Amino acid sequence: MKQVASAFKSLFLLELLKGLSLTGRYLFDRKITVQYPEEKTPLSNRFRGLHALRRYANGEERCIACKLCEAVCPALAITIEAAPRDDGTRRTTRYDIDLSKCIFCGFCEESCPVDSIVETRLFEYHGDKRGDLLMSKEKLLAVGDKFESQLAADRAQDACYR
Ligand code: SF4
Ligand code: SF4
Repeated sequence: MKQVASAFKSLFLLELLKGLSLTGRYLFDRKITVQYPEEKTPLSNRFRGLHALRRYANGEERCIACKLCEAVCPALAITIEAAPRDDGTRRTTRYDIDLSKCIFCGFCEESCPVDSIVETRLFEYHGDKRGDLLMSKEKLLAVGDKFESQLAADRAQDACYR
């Protein structure tokens, strides 16, 4: 009996018609495919993209070289060297993030007591060679300067839910 049913299905191409009817149904449905990069999906204010180092409004860098982010990084992607400045304050002389190691866990951002190291919403970046993905302090500060208004707004929004 099973063989007869199977032969019947094959003879009248029932499986094929079933598949085509499903295709036809979706053909006229509302399309949910996003035409990236012309169309973008919304991003959370907690999105973990490219890293940045932030400054205070007076231009002073926030980082106090406590090295918490370096200690907490599970991928050992952060390298910090620090020294006291002439005014007695302590600042980093080197702050590198190797993005080829980073797993974008956000621990560095969470651990920072002064909201210095943060992750932006930027995910459209690339490197042609390995060195391009090594973010130096200068590069990180430049990203922070460029996206400061967005970074501040994202953190203010987050504070509303705490
Ligand atoms: S996001 Fe995670 S893996 Fe990447 S640098 Fe920060 S702590 Fe390290
Ligand atoms: S970025 Fe934040 S956690 Fe990392 S060394 Fe600077 S102050 Fe400390």
